[in-house]
Amino acid sequence: MHKIKYIPEKYIRKKSTDFVIWHDENMGKGEIKILENAVLSAFKYISLLKLIKHKRILNFCIYSNLTEGCKILQRDILANMLMAPYTDEINSLIILFPPSISCVTPENLTRHLIHEIAHCFIDEKTGSKKELEDNDKDMRIESWKSEGLAEVISYYALGREKELEQKKFSDLSDKLLNENLNDLNSKVRGKAFEIATAKVFLEIQKFGLNKYFDSMSKNC
Ligand SMILES: [Zn+2]
Repeated sequence: MHKIKYIPEKYIRKKSTDFVIWHDENMGKGEIKILENAVLSAFKYISLLKLIKHKRILNFCIYSNLTEGCKILQRDILANMLMAPYTDEINSLIILFPPSISCVTPENLTRHLIHEIAHCFIDEKTGSKKELEDNDKDMRIESWKSEGLAEVISYYALGREKELEQKKFSDLSDKLLNENLNDLNSKVRGKAFEIATAKVFLEIQKFGLNKYFDSMSKNC
């Protein structure tokens, strides 16, 4: 019995060195192995940045299929989507579906995992807690900043920060950015994502990634 929201009770817990993978008993061993290797690789890259000594346990849940996942999360999401829908003082959760594991290149999966792990680190650093549909009442960082920073961290971790210079900046208000990022159906979500990334990258070029991350506090 566990208390991590969005993980079905019947799922099996597989403990790895620094994280836990949850899955259905019928999940293929190959899928689990691909995920485990990608998480290990994501961890290796993100730890090079020395951002945080994280204490929250990182949990990864592979839903059996999209229908089951959407039902549990109570929202329609895309099969290739990874998401960090839950965190409390002890646990962080990242969810995904088998297509996300088998239909993308290992490099893409690793980068995407770094992005989601970065969200978990940001939440812990700012003392944030979250679950879906709670209107971010316990989030201590705005959505645009969290999205932009998670994206920037994923590029830095892989030594691809030069690519961030291509991100187009435009002066959209923080409020509009937050609204469009929080709405999974927003037609300009991709654009908002790019602007948020460009905004955070601009700040990080001034202060440096570690200084910027360190400056985030529980009052962020
Ligand atoms: Zn994100």
